[in-house]
Amino acid sequence: MRKLHRKVAAFLPFWLLFEQAASYLYDNRYAGDKVIRAVPDNEAAAKTLKNLTQQFKVDLWQPGSVSYISKGAFVDVRVSRNTSQILLPYLQQANIQYTVLISDLQKAVEKQSGLKSSRNRRSLPGYSYEIYHSLEEIQSWMYHLNKSHSDLVHMFSIGKSYEGRPLFVLKLGRRSQVYKKAVWMDCGIHAREWIGPAFCQWFVKEALQTYQTDPAMRRMLNQLYFYIMPILNVDGYHFSWTHDRFWRKTRSKNSRFRCYGVDANRNWKVKWCDEGASIHPCDDTYCGPFPESEPEVKAVAHFLRKHRKQIKAYLSFHAYAQMLLYPYSYKYATIPNFSCVESAAFNAVNALQSVYGIRYRYGPASSTLYVSSGSSMDWAYKNGIPYAFAFELRDTGHFGFLLPENLIKPTCTETMLAVKNITMHLLKKCH
Ligand SMILES: [Zn+2]
Repeated sequence: MRKLHRKVAAFLPFWLLFEQAASYLYDNRYAGDKVIRAVPDNEAAAKTLKNLTQQFKVDLWQPGSVSYISKGAFVDVRVSRNTSQILLPYLQQANIQYTVLISDLQKAVEKQSGLKSSRNRRSLPGYSYEIYHSLEEIQSWMYHLNKSHSDLVHMFSIGKSYEGRPLFVLKLGRRSQVYKKAVWMDCGIHAREWIGPAFCQWFVKEALQTYQTDPAMRRMLNQLYFYIMPILNVDGYHFSWTHDRFWRKTRSKNSRFRCYGVDANRNWKVKWCDEGASIHPCDDTYCGPFPESEPEVKAVAHFLRKHRKQIKAYLSFHAYAQMLLYPYSYKYATIPNFSCVESAAFNAVNALQSVYGIRYRYGPASSTLYVSSGSSMDWAYKNGIPYAFAFELRDTGHFGFLLPENLIKPTCTETMLAVKNITMHLLKKCH
């Protein structure tokens, strides 16, 4: 059938159009795939689930690594139609409870992908912040802001990705001769977490739109700089639009294995490649051949090192879990400035909840989520940035990575409040 389409496409422009559109739908590769949530209620069930997950090479959505599968905690996995036909009876036999979160992933991908929204909403001016944007669209949006808001926005590149794409950062804030502290924000370390880049753009939009009218925003932009990197893992993000919607890692090649990419949030030089990271290049939590092996990680680490005295807060945006996490990630221990960080987190999640009632859990990443080594948040903290946070945005698994576009606005609105709260905290002295 596909071959026939291709032949026809050579003669009929209509079919050419169809083919072009089809490339956005990932060649129908998720047809019949499911997302399943399993809950092992005892040790034996957890062990069985671990083995099955590895044996069937399923795509683990939650938790981040097979090693975290434990009794009582839910496990979200994406399975192909064929695998699910074998796996589900296995689960039943082993008495492991499961529910189907998404019954046809292809349909869910098409619904969420924004293809139904008209393309012209994506072009400038009239840029929509309530749809997901491709890398090219986000980059031209940055160019546009750099030109149209040169008083508050300055765009620059901190290096090049593995595939040679520029790594753009926006510096936001009123230019000043006097020294100003700064906040770093990055989104899209993990490619498939599309709500992240949508939030980074939302933040910039809100800042520019409310600078004149909101005294808190005015104070923030007058007294601080914000370094905002809307997409850290540019190659991976691009790949998640063109080839695999559920790609997580970078796109670097491995000399010995056929698998591509490194987990850009396990590649930092802080207890590198220890617990919660994998040495296997085919795993989603692969730590890379050495710390900062990924040009994207190296470029950000270099920038943060260079500005470590100026940058007082490091904020990284992920999905999904609805959590606000702070160090440490790599060990169970209390950070020296715990009380200041904890109260900032407490206030931030309360502010977030006040908007739509969405509750976020908060706490040290190790005990709230799981132990993971080589993360950017721990690295930033260890390198002298006193407030380091990682947000795990909406939701808690109903849509997972396929958060619908109509939830971009509520998610970003509430997150905005949390971020403003943390930022205002910086401007006060914490005792
Ligand atoms: Zn992530």
